[in-house]
Amino acid sequence: MRKNLFKEAGIIAGIVFLLLVGFILTSFLSFSVTRNLIINSARSQTLPLISDNIYSVIKKDLLDPINVSSLMANDAFLIEWIKSGEKGLDEITTYLQLIREKYGYTSSFFVSEITGNYYYYEGILKQISPEDAHDVWYFDFKAKDVPLDLDVDNDEAKNGLLTVFINHRLLDHEGNFLGVTGVGLELRDIAENLAAYEDRYNRRIYMIDHDGLIQIHPDKTLVEAANIQNQEGISQISDEILSTKEEVKILEYKDHKGIKTLSIRYLPEFDWLLVVEKDQTASLQEARQSLWQNLLIGILVTIIISLGVIIAFKRYNQRLEFLASFDELTGLFNRRAFQKLLEREISIAQRYGYSSSLLMLDIDEFKSVNDQFGHFVGDKLIIDVVDAIRSNLRSTDIIGRWGGDELVIFLLRTDESEAVNTAQRIQSAVEEIKFETSQGAINRTVSIGITSVLAEKISSENLLKQADKALIKAKKSGKNSILIYSSL
Ligand code: GH3
Ligand code: MG
Repeated sequence: MRKNLFKEAGIIAGIVFLLLVGFILTSFLSFSVTRNLIINSARSQTLPLISDNIYSVIKKDLLDPINVSSLMANDAFLIEWIKSGEKGLDEITTYLQLIREKYGYTSSFFVSEITGNYYYYEGILKQISPEDAHDVWYFDFKAKDVPLDLDVDNDEAKNGLLTVFINHRLLDHEGNFLGVTGVGLELRDIAENLAAYEDRYNRRIYMIDHDGLIQIHPDKTLVEAANIQNQEGISQISDEILSTKEEVKILEYKDHKGIKTLSIRYLPEFDWLLVVEKDQTASLQEARQSLWQNLLIGILVTIIISLGVIIAFKRYNQRLEFLASFDELTGLFNRRAFQKLLEREISIAQRYGYSSSLLMLDIDEFKSVNDQFGHFVGDKLIIDVVDAIRSNLRSTDIIGRWGGDELVIFLLRTDESEAVNTAQRIQSAVEEIKFETSQGAINRTVSIGITSVLAEKISSENLLKQADKALIKAKKSGKNSILIYSSL
């Protein structure tokens, strides 16, 4: 029994193990597929598409002022005015004012190389000087061999308002450097545009220069202040980002919050990089949630199946236990169980000095019922005989099926003459039964062998042998007979 229990526990543990491993494997597999799908779709479709859209919007935002600056740099009036000695402040202020109003920019300017004057739409702002930190941009730009440059700076004419200046080199017809002209537009407008895109696409969108310094960002405090080269997470891939030229790069980095996928696009017009960043944490969170749900379902199913198996084992064991001690047809003790009980009953009888008797009973001409009407009718006959016997016994009597049509009955505290009485009662009860068959009712009788003991020391085996001998003799003396062992 113990061995069986261990075996069953082993089988159940095996089933639980297999189910759990199966569920865990499929759950993680599907999580990994979903995760890759999410990241790949961001990589191959969403990010490049959004980056394209935003690029065209920003280009439009910045290309217009670039064109205007270029227009100013080629303006015959401006070149003539410089050549003629920058006379008449009104003329240049009106010109700059006109440009500013016509296109709606925050600022318009011309810085003269000859006089060092910084002209803006209201007059002369200042005299530029290489010593003034605010004027470094001019000397840097002059030294660079490019016609155009974008510079994010505080506008001194506008109380330090953060502005994108589009600086254009101004040359005369001979190619002599006359100064720098251009317009400035408030960074807020572009940043608001980006912020609107952030809301719509749920992506972080910003621009950095070729050193990684943030130039345009919805969070203005980062502009000209933060550099991706020293920001957590993104700094790991800053070299790759900053080396982007023609192609659109899709990169990934991890910070303490999760995985971010980036699309990087180089904007040659400005020498800036456009960064569109997608935080995958939320999408992966959903995948992770479904992973937990799958695992939970798996655990529940495992528990249900395990309970089912445990119940099935329990039922099977109960059945095995029943079959080990009882006869299936009649529900009586089987031979093994009866003999065991008999042993105990005999020792009780000996201990208390009770006389007790054992009856062994066999149905007469039973085989012919089987042969004539079939085994099912035979079975029914056995059951009817058992019922008839039962109704003539006390609750302390024990009845068992010895085998075939043979039954054994132990009568505690019953001496020989009482046992004979009981046997006769049983005989009459059986005789009275009308067994229904296809050919009408039939009757059967039983022959009974009796043995009685009075507090004697006797083994159950010997007691059974005595009853059996009595029965055999009874059978020989004719059907429907009773024989007592002591009379042999
Ligand atoms: P006898 O008067 O000498 O006892 O003759 P009998 O025909 O009763 O012969 P016996 O007792 O030797 O035959 C018992 C038969 O019972 C033989 C066997 O086929 C049949 N038998 C044994 N177990 C079962 C059972 O569970 N159901 C049925 N229907 N028949 C059984
Ligand atoms: Mg018989």
